[in-house]
Amino acid sequence: MSIFEQWGVTPIINATGSVTRLGGAVMPPEVIAAFSAAASDACSLEELQVAASRILAHHTGAAAGIVTAGCAAGLTLGTAAILAGLDAGRMERLPRPAPGDRHEFLVAREQRNGYDHAVRAAGATLVEVGFNEIVSNAGVRRTETWEYGAAITERTAGILYIAAPEARPRLQEVVDLAHRHCLPVLVDAAGELLPRNTLPDLVATGADLVACSGGKALRGPQSTGILCGRAELVGSALLQMLDMDDHPDLWSPPGILPEPRRLFGQPRHGLGRGFKVSKEEIAALLTAVELFFSGHYDQERSQQLTRLRQIAGQIPAPSRWELDDPHDGQRFPVLEVVVAEQALRKSAFDICRSLRDGSPRIFVGHGQLPLGRLVIHPLCLTETQSVQVAERLRVELTPSG
Ligand SMILES: *Cc1c(COP(=O)(O)O)cnc(C)c1O
Repeated sequence: MSIFEQWGVTPIINATGSVTRLGGAVMPPEVIAAFSAAASDACSLEELQVAASRILAHHTGAAAGIVTAGCAAGLTLGTAAILAGLDAGRMERLPRPAPGDRHEFLVAREQRNGYDHAVRAAGATLVEVGFNEIVSNAGVRRTETWEYGAAITERTAGILYIAAPEARPRLQEVVDLAHRHCLPVLVDAAGELLPRNTLPDLVATGADLVACSGGKALRGPQSTGILCGRAELVGSALLQMLDMDDHPDLWSPPGILPEPRRLFGQPRHGLGRGFKVSKEEIAALLTAVELFFSGHYDQERSQQLTRLRQIAGQIPAPSRWELDDPHDGQRFPVLEVVVAEQALRKSAFDICRSLRDGSPRIFVGHGQLPLGRLVIHPLCLTETQSVQVAERLRVELTPSG
């Protein structure tokens, strides 16, 4: 029996990958063990974050890093760090920047997304640059680097960039441009961690802060993330997240700050106090980071490929399937089921809905539904669940009469 049933909640089969709505990635046993070991022990959270910084620096190549309450929290904290620096007075004012303070972030119009609310939540205003010309018939050009340069004013505090393989212009160009203007770049790399060198490569561009999720490809707790980058900014973010109720005569700034003397005054609870991360979550995330960067998860790929092939083998004609195998042994293989909508007189939306409503309840990726496709992601599927998915799909896709 699933633990959720005692509260009247029906468990589901998650064939969508690591989406937040469905609880993110399942944690490996090593990560769960770290979580529970940390739960029955005590330490200073500040010291644990300083230790985390060393480990995250080692794996990412950044000068420093902290565990945040998810990528979105990392974006809010990163923005707060850029806006306030090490100024306790500015930290205290956020999310209202001091009059006259730089508070605008440039972002490519085509990179706007639901998560940029996290940047605005810290008190920043987004200023869009670039055309969305690519979606019009004549359009061949996307956002260009000079457009960021042309939009910089004395109000510009930084540049927000959403990392994706197809993102243009390239991050390196944006970082070089920003640094010529002495501006920091904040990168949202949430779900983009595979192949494994992606995060180190993003950091190597010189991007000042990079935020990512802990509960997606890393397979840490869903409520975790990483914010890594320049030590002064990461230190500012940590100060704005930590509980600050230590006695001023006993408190000293966390060991992440390169020049703690530049901090004047002991900040009070900051903007990020509500984004606290527990010792259990930090211990679990650090364990997940070690597993991820050691390549431990790669061994699951061939089994995942086999399971997707088994599911594909059950898809009845005239529906079809396509298996996308990235062949690098690191990124996930993904199965796309092409629903024969005409023959079945049912749309992919209909099938998706009946999979959700049936028994067992199955959630598949909905990103390609308008194209008549269901997406099956193997990350959270067990052997038994794969068999159940195959069987339900076979039934749903069998033409009647
Ligand atoms: C998932 C995601 C986030 C949010 O990450 P959390 O760890 O859930 O806070 C932010 N940005 C992008 C692009 C994402 O895909």
